[in-house]
Amino acid sequence: MEFSLPISAKAVERLACDSSVTRILLGSDSTVIDVGRAKRTITGPQRKALKVRDRGCVWPGCDRPATWTEGHHLVHWIHNGPGNLPNLVLLCYRHHWMVHEGEWQIVRADDGRMLTVPPITPYQRLARGPD
Ligand SMILES: [Zn+2]
Ligand SMILES: [Zn+2]
Repeated sequence: MEFSLPISAKAVERLACDSSVTRILLGSDSTVIDVGRAKRTITGPQRKALKVRDRGCVWPGCDRPATWTEGHHLVHWIHNGPGNLPNLVLLCYRHHWMVHEGEWQIVRADDGRMLTVPPITPYQRLARGPD
């Protein structure tokens, strides 16, 4: 079968992060590409628990409600991140995109706060002097 994926590998990772939106992907010729891996994705009870715990996007300062969010694996299951609640957070579509395609990072600090790390640009690498 010959087809080309219409989206980048990073987009696939983002979509695969939350199976409810990625169970079925359409190819450029409308061929159904099944991402599969249903066993690694977020289950119904986990999603409910996430909504209770996070209530909405966990990005600092973001007020998107849970209905606008997707589940995000802090360590992606592609990289052996566990599919349990401590590794899952809710992110709105924009912030989920920023983490996967925009190369931002979001991490949970020891005190439970979420911290974001902007992508390092080539300019920053060059401009950065000794600390
Ligand atoms: Zn994600
Ligand atoms: Zn957000």
